[in-house]
Amino acid sequence: MSEGWKDIDLANPTEEHAMLRKMVRDFVREEVEPQALEHDREEKFNLDLFRKLGEYGLLGISVSEDYGGSGMDATAVAIVNEELSYSDPGFCLAYLAHAQLMVNNLAHNGNEEQKSRILPKVCSGEWVGCMAMSEPGYGTDVLGMQTTATQNDDGDWLINGQKMWITNGSIDEQGTPADVCWLYARTGTDSKGRAEVTTFLVEKGMQGYSVGQKIYDKTGMRASNTAELVFDDCLVPAANIVGEVGDSMIHMMRNLELERIGLAAMGLGIARRSLAAMNRYASERVAFGKEIREFGQIQRHIGESWAEYRAMRAYIYDTARNTDLEKSGNRLDTDGVKLYGTTAAKNIADRAIQVLGGYGYVGEYTVERLWRDAKLLEIGGGTLESHQKNITRDLSKNPNAIED
Ligand SMILES: Cc1cc2nc3c(=O)[nH]c(=O)nc-3n(C[C@H](O)[C@H](O)[C@H](O)COP(=O)(O)OP(=O)(O)OC[C@H]3O[C@@H](n4cnc5c(N)ncnc54)[C@H](O)[C@@H]3O)c2cc1C
Repeated sequence: MSEGWKDIDLANPTEEHAMLRKMVRDFVREEVEPQALEHDREEKFNLDLFRKLGEYGLLGISVSEDYGGSGMDATAVAIVNEELSYSDPGFCLAYLAHAQLMVNNLAHNGNEEQKSRILPKVCSGEWVGCMAMSEPGYGTDVLGMQTTATQNDDGDWLINGQKMWITNGSIDEQGTPADVCWLYARTGTDSKGRAEVTTFLVEKGMQGYSVGQKIYDKTGMRASNTAELVFDDCLVPAANIVGEVGDSMIHMMRNLELERIGLAAMGLGIARRSLAAMNRYASERVAFGKEIREFGQIQRHIGESWAEYRAMRAYIYDTARNTDLEKSGNRLDTDGVKLYGTTAAKNIADRAIQVLGGYGYVGEYTVERLWRDAKLLEIGGGTLESHQKNITRDLSKNPNAIED
């Protein structure tokens, strides 16, 4: 039998991964945790703290070092998201929208001019990025999108439409749009009669690009900004098309896999923090003359949470290990980890509230915030229903995935 295979820790497979985890964990303890409660209460995005992530090399975690990134892989992305979400999933969502939805997409699909001009700015934190796919009337049904782009006689593009629910769409309370927006727009109809979708890099200052409204009163993820974006005869030079006209499906498929691992890893951070909180409290709290961990019903909450936490950890890091950032091909499991890991996170946070009783229901004890944040993970980046649909479709094409 091959030597050493039992030594692999899927969550920290190399020394570099373990060092990254330690660095992020220290940063989270010192800088993220102290501000998390306040930014959730005030529904405020911490832009200064976000820019600091650039100093640590995290904003370009999966970007080649040639463009100012850290040149790491999907496992590293999962590690950062897990550690940030242990403390502040809302802040992590803003990070994910930038580093995974926009920056990673550009790094793997942009041309040389776009990469050398934009990547150093988004890797350092000088620029904040967002990704705009969803619209007021079209979310899961993405190819129904109504935002259009038409080319004028000069070769430039005029974009018209609205995008909805865009994380980092506005970077402040004054409605300043993201410095760069990775935008999907309809440019025609393909040979099968479906929307032909093209990717554009829209930059702050381009005519007709603005924030429609910042969306307030979200259930959770309140430390991230969510906005509606408006494109009103927005003028984008031809040089800002990514790839060829109609290439967006390739961009979406490649990048959604990383996004789903990233969102599932956020759930893992929520699960670990919630489990730690309920485990600690079950020893501290006494009722009827006993620590509450002596009660069978509390044991069920803790026991089930431990098993689910361990299962999601193994599945997420195994899927990250098998995911190649350069190409798509792991939809089955990236949908799988998001389907399983997000609901598991929500349920573990829910049990933590239950174990903490009344204390679990107030902000100071953190778990109610984690529960509110966890709910978004079942919606954003693909709803649970879309994952069920994709998994069932993929298994019909490849039933051997079950037996192999
Ligand atoms: C806080 C937050 C941040 C977000 N950030 C971004 C972002 O940065 N960029 C971005 O582009 N989008 C973002 N989104 C949008 C998010 O991706 C969408 O909300 C999500 O894809 C669902 O789309 P929808 O809200 O239009 O719901 P719909 O697609 O209308 O779905 C409504 C319900 O119908 C179900 N449904 C739809 N179609 C089917 C079907 N074929 N079979 C079975 N059930 C179906 C859905 O699963 C859901 O339960 C964000 C959303 C939120 C809330």
